[in-house]
This record gives sequence, structure tokens and C-alpha cells, in this order.
Amino acid sequence: MTISPPDTMQRVVLAARPKGSPKTTDFRLETIPMPTPGPGEFLVRVIWLSLDPYMRGRMDESKSYAAAVEIGDPMEGGCVGQVIASNNPGFEVGDYVLDRFGWQSHAVGTGEATRKLDPKLAPLSTGLGVLGMPGLTAYVGLNTHGRPKAGETLVVGAATGAVGSLVGQLAKAQGLRVVGVAGGADKCNYAVDVLGFDACIDHRAAGNASDMRQKLAAECPDGVDIYFENIGGITLEAIIPLMNVHGRIPVCGMIGWYNAGALGAGVGDGPNILPKVWRTILVSRLAVTGFIIFDHYDQYPQFLKEVSGLISQGKVIYRESIAEGLDAAPEAFMKLLEGGNFGKQLVAVSNDETR
Ligand code: NDP
Repeated sequence: MTISPPDTMQRVVLAARPKGSPKTTDFRLETIPMPTPGPGEFLVRVIWLSLDPYMRGRMDESKSYAAAVEIGDPMEGGCVGQVIASNNPGFEVGDYVLDRFGWQSHAVGTGEATRKLDPKLAPLSTGLGVLGMPGLTAYVGLNTHGRPKAGETLVVGAATGAVGSLVGQLAKAQGLRVVGVAGGADKCNYAVDVLGFDACIDHRAAGNASDMRQKLAAECPDGVDIYFENIGGITLEAIIPLMNVHGRIPVCGMIGWYNAGALGAGVGDGPNILPKVWRTILVSRLAVTGFIIFDHYDQYPQFLKEVSGLISQGKVIYRESIAEGLDAAPEAFMKLLEGGNFGKQLVAVSNDETR
């Protein structure tokens, strides 16, 4: 089978390094000639592009666990696509594949880190969400670093998002009390009514950390055993004194501070609470564990088996937020950083005929 590629392709490149929140002019949509795959390579038509909070960090030059995107280079990103030409015996035209093809309509792959997907087993888009990197993050963060026990209380931020929604559902399935933190009444109602959380607090309606602490304390009468950290900000400040002895804080992300850059410009200009926080970690013997998911892909097979089983039994549900077309990616990404997504944020780059 051959699928003739068009003569040109599109990509979104980093045009400028953002100062604070990214803006439209930090991105540029380009049309370039279609590349030709060399020996051992294949050409992919991108179907789904994943938008993830970590991409904000890649736009900055500061030192991190991964290199920054260079100005003029395509933005990085995980994608699901279809092979449309191949010089690689391991990948046939028509195969569905997952790899880091970036914010592009087409890409050349080598197959080194490419995974094949079977659309009969699960919708292709789930390979970027509940059954992909964010799903694995929830699974590893909760089980390996959170070490949950039935009867304990867990609090998770960005509760209706790709990671948070699965953390809460997995914790509920293990018999924990689950309290979410989300932005707005719709998301909070969804967390309780649809995801089955015990409660959800609207961080946008909380005035400050002490207001947030009162709300959290009311919903966590036995204290907090696990705080799954996705957001930073007033929720983090509020929750530290509510942590039980031997509590665990898997530090997964802090999206509320990403636009402040690595040095946190404008964050923490108030009173210095660091000594108090540090002392609480000691006195309450808290385990605060930062983790980056690429250290944990050995757990992928076990995760896939367990979570796809829970999905087919209706015990885990997931939600997607879809932006149409590659040119919509910058706007959708800027909104994601402000809570404009409701569920896993994807971009439909080209037609998914398996849907
Ligand atoms: P989500 O789908 O949860 O989308 C991001 C959400 O963050 C928004 O919808 C919004 O939800 C919330 N948010 C944005 N700004 C703020 C703010 N100022 N305060 C509180 N919440 C805010 O994204 P993901 O599930 O993909 O990611 C969740 C977290 O997990 C991020 O911090 C991300 O960096 C981290 N992560 C870490 C990984 C690792 O390897 N350590 C891997 C993958 C993700 P709302 O409207 O409810 O406020």
C-alpha cells in the first residue's frame, strides 16, 4: 500500500522565549517542503498531538532535566500518527505509531523509540493520555511515591486533568478518601459526580492560603496522608500544616508557577515560609519525593495492563479536550496553562479514521 504525501508540511516553531505567560508571537506556523525518509526511516502523517504542561519549561533556556527547544526549532511533543512511506522493515505503510514527532503535520521517524498502536485495543488518542505518559505518571506517582493505604486521605490538584483525574480514580479504587482541587464549579462538580471523588475544592474561589487551608481542613477531618503535588501555589502553602505524620508528597509538577520560570520570578516575594515548611517536613517526617516519569518506563507494561482493565470495567473514565488543526496548537497550549482545558488536551492534526 502506498499513500502519496503532499508536497509540503506544516510545523509550529518556537519564535521567541516567553517572558511570563506565552503569547501568540512566541510561536510561528511554517510551511516547508515535505521531507523524504532516508534509509531505515519512515514518514508519518501526524493524527494527534499531545499538549502538556512540561512544554512550557522547554520554551525557557534555564537548566532542567531536558534541553530547551532552540529558537526556530519545532516545539516538542508526543504524537500519534500513521506511517505513509517507509524504508524501515519494522514499520509498514498504514501502521499507527506513537513517538515524539513534535508540533508538526508530518515527521520522519527512525523507529528507535517508536511504539506501534493497535486501534482495536484502545482509541489511538488514549496513547497520549490515560494509557500514555500522563496515565503512567499518575500510576507511578501514586503507587511508587504515594504508597497509598486503604482508609487514608489523598489530596490531588489539577483534579480533572490528565494526571489528576487518574490519580484520584486509582486512589478511590484502593479505598482512600479523595479530595480534589480544581478551577471552577464545573470541574469540581465533575470530579465528585463523574469521577467519584469525595469532595473537590475550587482553588479559584479561595482567596488565599489560609482560606484554602480552612476548606481543605473541613474536607480532610483526619488530616492528609498523601498530597499529590501538581500545582504549587496557595494549595501547597495551605496543605503543609495539614499533613499527617509520615505523610507523602509525590512532587509531580507545579503548574501554577511554570510561567514564573525556573527561578520563580515574582513567586515567594512575601514572608519567608521556608523555615516553617522545612521544620514541618522534619517534625512530621514527611517524604517529599520529586519524580520525572522518564525514569519509570519499566512500569509501563504493568500500568497498561491494570489501567486498561479498569477502563474496560468502567472503573476508570477519561475525558479529552480537543483543539482542531495544528494552527490551533499555540492557543490551546496557552489556555492549558491557565486551566482552559477540561481533561487531556489534544490537537486533532489530521483525520483519525479509526474513531
Ligand atoms: P492537566 O490536564 O491537569 O492540565 C493542566 C491543569 O493545571 C489545568 O487544566 C488547570 O486545572 C491546572 N492549573 C493551571 N494553572 C493553575 C494554577 N495557577 N493553580 C492551580 N492549578 C492550575 O495537565 P497534566 O495532567 O498533563 O499535568 C498535571 C501536572 O502533572 C502538571 O504539573 C505537569 O507538569 C505534571 N506532570 C509531571 C510529570 C512528571 O514526570 N513529573 C509528567 C506529566 C505531567 P484547573 O482549571 O483545575 O486549575
